[in-house]
Amino acid sequence: QAKDSGRAQVRFYSSELNELRKKQQQIEDKLKEAIRQDGLQLHFQPKADLTGDDICFTSAEALIRWQNQGQTVFYPDEFIPVAERTNLICELGYWVIRRACLQISQWKQAGYKGVSIAVNLSPKQLSDQGLFPFIQRQIEENGIEQGELELEITEYAVVEDFLESVSRLNNLKQLGISVTMDDFGTGYSSLNYLKKLPIETMKIDRSFISRLPAAPEDSAIVIAIFAMAKALNLKVVAEGVETQEQLDFLRQHGCHMAQGYLFSPALPSGEFIHWLENHRPDISEAR
Ligand code: C2E
Ligand code: MG
Ligand code: MG
Ligand code: MG
Repeated sequence: QAKDSGRAQVRFYSSELNELRKKQQQIEDKLKEAIRQDGLQLHFQPKADLTGDDICFTSAEALIRWQNQGQTVFYPDEFIPVAERTNLICELGYWVIRRACLQISQWKQAGYKGVSIAVNLSPKQLSDQGLFPFIQRQIEENGIEQGELELEITEYAVVEDFLESVSRLNNLKQLGISVTMDDFGTGYSSLNYLKKLPIETMKIDRSFISRLPAAPEDSAIVIAIFAMAKALNLKVVAEGVETQEQLDFLRQHGCHMAQGYLFSPALPSGEFIHWLENHRPDISEAR
């Protein structure tokens, strides 16, 4: 009897695994099509600069969306990992970079100055030989200036070949691109690595922010991250800020930037600009 139920369980697991594989294959096939047929969109989430007396919105994170007539087909957390397992992530990544550079240039032409865009890079992209020349060309073609394009990488992007990563990041820096360590605290945060990386900013993962300020452990961790960042001369961004209490705590402890639903979710470019006009008086004046 025990044998029977054991077999049933194996069958259960393998059919679940089959389902998973089938779903991944389906996502992969549809994603290829979506990339080719312009079925993907880039949305923008404002990043708040907290260093002045007034909060200022000077940049946005580009977040990929896969929607069909406003309806989500798949979420990034579902299809980015699938793309990462295949080489599709590089194709997807090129699309995102091109789209972001085009957007920076369009906003500037429309008179919206001083808004930079941060693009997420997958680990595979950073080790792709074609990345640097591609970015260089996009920057030239779209007249992207120093500081207008930022990149967000995760710790996983640099662990495999650390020295190679440092040299690639240095090359990007020479193009005037600043790099942020995304989801900080969730990967292999070797302080020795961090010290040697040519990055400017680290972004504290949402999981440390969500229970602020009530949770004593999370508060202690976040304060410790601020102290470390200061010692390493890095700026800190907090991600996933949803409440005023979280923002107050972060400002009180010297956090440089914040991002989250408290300000806005990621929006399509037109809505983002509209949002910016309402939250940055200077942006319409400059026009
Ligand atoms: P991420 O780079 O850490 O982006 C932050 C995620 O948190 C985004 O989810 C964003 O919509 C969400 N978020 C922002 N503020 C809040 C908040 O206050 N509360 C909550 N609960 N969530 C918030 P999204 O857009 O679903 O993206 C998920 C992940 O997919 C990203 O995490 C990133 O790793 C990846 N991703 C998204 N776009 C791209 C892309 O263009 N290229 C690559 N390689 N990865 C991307
Ligand atoms: Mg990010
Ligand atoms: Mg993040
Ligand atoms: Mg995160």
